[in-house]
Amino acid sequence: MLASELERRLYQVDRDLVAMYGRKVLVPHGDAVGELVHTILTQNTSDANSDRTYAALRQAFPTWDMLADADAEQVEAVIRLGGLARTKAARIVQVLRRLRDERGSITLDGLERLPKMEAFEELNRYVGVGPKTAACVLLFALGVPVFPVDTHVHRVANRLGLVSTKAPSATQAELMPVVPEEITYQLHMNMVKHGRVTCRAQRPRCDECRLAPYCTVPAVRRQEGRKERGGRTQGESGGEHDELGGEADPQI
Ligand code: SF4
Repeated sequence: MLASELERRLYQVDRDLVAMYGRKVLVPHGDAVGELVHTILTQNTSDANSDRTYAALRQAFPTWDMLADADAEQVEAVIRLGGLARTKAARIVQVLRRLRDERGSITLDGLERLPKMEAFEELNRYVGVGPKTAACVLLFALGVPVFPVDTHVHRVANRLGLVSTKAPSATQAELMPVVPEEITYQLHMNMVKHGRVTCRAQRPRCDECRLAPYCTVPAVRRQEGRKERGGRTQGESGGEHDELGGEADPQI
């Protein structure tokens, strides 16, 4: 798809999602290192679990220096609840130590003053910081309009035919240069919401979706989803991370 056509469709998706879920206004929270650590903790687990493990981590290691100086095993014990604890603990300790070695202290101050792609590449240099993590840090903490793609955004973008990709990192590589800056945050937030409540991995609620007229999921499959859902109980929603039947993207 030509970039100009993709951009036109992104505006269309944004308008319809705003009609479903409302406008979203970005208020950057300013804690870039916190966002970095928190995003590493979100891989392959629910928001509730990653919030809990982040709170436990901050309580156990009140300063970034204390966390950087900890043994990975100590960190692993604190974040065990969130899954993949050994990998995440090693990544967190490693990235904090490297920040301190390279910058003199554990900070990402000044990143927001670089051109946005330079800031993105700078973050991607760190082991354990994939494209989604880098974009989340820039967008949510520093207000730099870089489009993050998680499992929900990836699924919705593929079903809508905006991209044809196998992994969230590939979807992000295609969408990031094209998403207009003024809708970056709103589109991300509303695509995540859409993926969670309507365009779910299993049994999407297509009959409640304003995007159905231009969705590439065939109408016959949408009808089947409706019938199937009619015969199930409410609590049987699809898992948070079982998108498209595929495996988690190793590049976070
Ligand atoms: S019509 Fe169905 S599959 Fe397509 S975007 Fe909407 S909920 Fe998702």
